Amino acid sequence: MIDPTQPFGFATRAIHLGYDPHDYHGALIPPVFMTATYAFEDIAQGQRRFLGEEPGYIYSRVGNPTVSVLETRLASLEGGAAALATSSGMGAITSALWTLLQAGDAILADQTLYGCTYGFFAHGLARLGVEVRFADFTDLAAIEQALTPNTKVLFFESPANPNMRLIDIAAVSEIARRHGALTMVDNTYCTPWLQRPIELGADLVVHSATKYLGGHGDLIAGAVIGVKERIDEMRFFGVKEMTGANISAMDAFLVQRGLKTLELRMRQHCASAQAIAEMLEAHPAVAVVHYPGLPSHPQYELAQRQMRLPGGMIALELKGGYAAGARFMDALHLVTRAVSLGDCESLAQHPASMTHSTYTPEERARHGISEGLVRLSVGLETVEDLLADIRQALDAR
Ligand SMILES: *Cc1c(COP(=O)(O)O)cnc(C)c1O
Repeated sequence: MIDPTQPFGFATRAIHLGYDPHDYHGALIPPVFMTATYAFEDIAQGQRRFLGEEPGYIYSRVGNPTVSVLETRLASLEGGAAALATSSGMGAITSALWTLLQAGDAILADQTLYGCTYGFFAHGLARLGVEVRFADFTDLAAIEQALTPNTKVLFFESPANPNMRLIDIAAVSEIARRHGALTMVDNTYCTPWLQRPIELGADLVVHSATKYLGGHGDLIAGAVIGVKERIDEMRFFGVKEMTGANISAMDAFLVQRGLKTLELRMRQHCASAQAIAEMLEAHPAVAVVHYPGLPSHPQYELAQRQMRLPGGMIALELKGGYAAGARFMDALHLVTRAVSLGDCESLAQHPASMTHSTYTPEERARHGISEGLVRLSVGLETVEDLLADIRQALDAR
């Protein structure tokens, strides 16, 4: 096992941290512990475990050795002290916020959010007495103005799904700290290889591990990363008693397997997306390309400062609006029409009819999601094949 106190690189930690083969018959790969519960040697040991006086497992809703290996790696890669792996990204977001918020508190969120996150805030939290406010987080003065003394959490994504606006993580975290609120960043689009919000001042990071972390489109999972005390509270109250959104051992094993190639995959996602974004921008059928790796992106400078590379996600608007976007989508052969992102397969989706259909048309307009916007998750196929497929779909429009 590698020494966790030594400064090993990202990929080394993603592959080795938190597991010693010699503890498990020399098995190179961590075993999958398919068990619901754990035997106590005597009643005193059971009591010590429940009181937290002795480390060890009690029941797999609260912890499991396979899940622990994943959590150790996720915490280290994000630069946090502790991690809680969950059954989905929504399980991470709900478990974290049900732990942090109660009736009478307020949460302030960016105006552009993943559709189900928006649904949970606007229709879930609000229904149970949490005050939910939205602001344009690219405008720091608007955040200051929207903050109230009862605001406990600031929440945003960067790049913001689906139109690729960036939020200045260091600047927003500084405002939150000054007002005694916690900053929570959904880092799904970037992964810790591209961007580490905790190092920029954020308190908590949430992930949909369904996307790049798992990386193979074969599971649903999530995670929260932060200081140990808060993550413990989310584990022993949020997941254990509120949501029950624990990850299964098998899914934890699969995410762990995905993490081993995260750096390699992200390098290729970014290289291919850059080539595709440049081709799109030069194509006469395209009105706008939203990609942080293009100098035309309004926050190109912030992308250079905050992200290692500009990521694998592209949003585009075709000349001719919705109808042109729909014809483009239907003309794709290699790129698959599907929601989700971060898989080996390239995926295209239409937010207004798919991921952001939980918004009303007025909400979409207010939140900057145009009706013709198409979102591309650039996969790992041979980039020349992707360029050719996208080009023929643009020409077929
Ligand atoms: C997919 C996604 C989620 C929700 O994650 P699930 O694993 O599908 O529950 C949250 N935030 C972002 C940015 C996502 O892309």
